[in-house]
Amino acid sequence: MLARRIDQLSESLTMAITSLARELKANGKDVLSFSAGEPDFDTPQAIKDAAIKAINEGFTKYTAVDGIPELKEAIIGKLQRDNGLSYKPEHIIVSNGAKQSLFNLTQVLIDEGDEVIIPSPYWVTYPELVKYAGGKPVIIPTNESNGFKITPKQLEDAITPKTKLLILTTPSNPTGAVYTKEELEALAKVLAGTKIFVASDEMYEKLVYGGAKFTSAASINEDMFERTITINGLSKSAAMTGWRFGYLASSQTELVKAMKKLQSQSTSNINSITQKAAIPGLDGTIENDIEMMRKEFEKRRDRAVALLNAIDGISVLSPDGAFYLFVNHSQIEKDSMLFAKKLLEQEGVAVVPGIGFGSEGYFRFSFATDMTSIEEGIERIKRFVATYR
Ligand code: PLP
Repeated sequence: MLARRIDQLSESLTMAITSLARELKANGKDVLSFSAGEPDFDTPQAIKDAAIKAINEGFTKYTAVDGIPELKEAIIGKLQRDNGLSYKPEHIIVSNGAKQSLFNLTQVLIDEGDEVIIPSPYWVTYPELVKYAGGKPVIIPTNESNGFKITPKQLEDAITPKTKLLILTTPSNPTGAVYTKEELEALAKVLAGTKIFVASDEMYEKLVYGGAKFTSAASINEDMFERTITINGLSKSAAMTGWRFGYLASSQTELVKAMKKLQSQSTSNINSITQKAAIPGLDGTIENDIEMMRKEFEKRRDRAVALLNAIDGISVLSPDGAFYLFVNHSQIEKDSMLFAKKLLEQEGVAVVPGIGFGSEGYFRFSFATDMTSIEEGIERIKRFVATYR
């Protein structure tokens, strides 16, 4: 009955575990969930106010497919101010979350048989989108020894005449790794002279900790600016996951035009109210709200890392960004699905198995949850690990 192309697609494991946890909870089990990739904070008031104003003013009709001009101006202002990038309105397309930006991009860029380099552990969605577009994901594995970051040599070795795109995520979901400016410069050197595009997923840009500094891939040099497609949004930094707002910027106007065409025949513009609401999320209005959340995430990171590393048999690197810990449990169990399932059934703790991100022997623990739950959850993990068999 179904088309062949949908058969290659796997369901998002993150969402599958989250819904299993929700189901157990509904059936009365005491479940603590660390599986979802969304902040526990409420959306900042300035954003809600802008949305209410839009509704009251009747801003409730179709808009331009790629976003209203004042929203595009806010995005351009943000990219200039925060990232030193100069884009024009024709370089920007607003979509239903960064997920749709990535969907549009893979659909218009990837041809049958094209190779797309994806460092692992990766965000679950990338390989699926590449396969859906007919492309071939080429995975570069990373681990703790290189801070979960690819080296220039690894990139060089993965490139073939069929390579079309490299997907970089900084800060990373699920490892929190943040590429330094120097590391990006070294990768840029490998790409120089090739026709390879870079999709730079910068969703967690605002959530960096300690001395870590975020650098946008497109800001490295002119060559990188031309080949990089910058993808960002407000889901994570402004606690706006349900509003569905994301955007993409690229100096390749032909590429942007093609995505606009695809979006015009699929979803059209994103919700008109969300477009108005996103503006204070980009123009600096909510900087204090973001900083409040970032500081709280940092406290939780430090506490959770210390507690987890005190448990015999598991270990975790302290991440420089995002709100996830990628915990190594390979000493006690190689099979991450089995580990996560038992942990959920026995202790009511929901985490995402590493295999969903392409790495066996790990689980992803989201610290976008209150401190009391984090402490209680890790206490349960400790008990679980101590008796694991
Ligand atoms: N990119 C990364 C790395 C993510 O982790 C997520 C969400 O989990 C997204 C993109 C999608 O975000 P959005 O809510 O804007 O679709």
